[in-house]
Amino acid sequence: MAATIIDGKAVAGRLRAELAVEVAAFTGAHGRPPGLATILVGEDQASAVYVGGKQRGCAEVGIRGFDHRLPASASQDEVAALIEALNADPSVSGIICQLPVPEPLDGVALTGLVSPDKDVDGLTAASAGLLALGRPGLRPCTPEGVMLLLAETGVTLGGAEAVVLGRSNLFGKPMAQLLLAADATVTVCHSRTVGLPTVCARADVLIAAVGRARMVEADWVKPGAVVIDVGINRVDDALCGDVDFDPVREVAGAITPVPGGVGPMTIACLLRNTLKAARLAVGEDA
Ligand code: NAP
Repeated sequence: MAATIIDGKAVAGRLRAELAVEVAAFTGAHGRPPGLATILVGEDQASAVYVGGKQRGCAEVGIRGFDHRLPASASQDEVAALIEALNADPSVSGIICQLPVPEPLDGVALTGLVSPDKDVDGLTAASAGLLALGRPGLRPCTPEGVMLLLAETGVTLGGAEAVVLGRSNLFGKPMAQLLLAADATVTVCHSRTVGLPTVCARADVLIAAVGRARMVEADWVKPGAVVIDVGINRVDDALCGDVDFDPVREVAGAITPVPGGVGPMTIACLLRNTLKAARLAVGEDA
């Protein structure tokens, strides 16, 4: 039987609707909405599209957006000064420095300047440390979105074999930490992993984030497994994931499509993090 399709667009839509209600309540109680500041340096088209989506998402749920655009010629000190100003601005609950930034700017160093209280991307060393220690904090948006999709499938993570394909700081590592915190037995694979198909075939939950079009084939997948495809690849002017969707769908129990799976969850979780940061800033429980 073909796998159930996990409809990330629908789940994200529900989450946004819930957030709109909660943001309105926060705004009513505190006299100002949560605020999200995005910083875009230079003219990178894909980055401009991502930032536009984040700003539109803010408007949709009632979060105030601060859309900062700097020329590609901006210096490290100029971008750093903007981040410091936003750190100090009480109307800004969350800050994102859109990566990649143009050379010779150092995107990792700039992200590191964001106050941990406003780190709604969850990418600073402080946020990564809190996650690794199992302490409360702001979690990276895409792995958090995957956790919500897994909850949607009803899969029991406690004791499950979870395999994460990819070990990036942005996704693979925090994903593994979240699964571990949910009591899964976690294996993280990467380009030096030996016997990748065999390792993947052990997984009750298989999460692919490598950036290689349709790499995960049907015989890499345990029958009935939940397969989450994080990859976004452009092939012949169309988007596809890291999983060979049609054949894998015949083996898996549930699977996310690309597009319409993980992607919509990322911005929804960013908006959720912004509300969470705003609540923490006024001393409320998140
Ligand atoms: P990344 O930083 O390039 O990391 C890719 C990972 O895949 C690395 O750990 C790499 O191993 C591993 N890898 C590459 N080729 C491999 C191979 N042939 N066999 C096994 N492992 C291999 O990428 P990322 O930022 O994590 O993103 C991964 C994908 O997810 C991309 O397509 C990206 O566009 C997508 N993404 C989507 C969203 C979303 O919102 N939907 C968010 C984030 C990322 P090494 O460490 O050994 O090099």
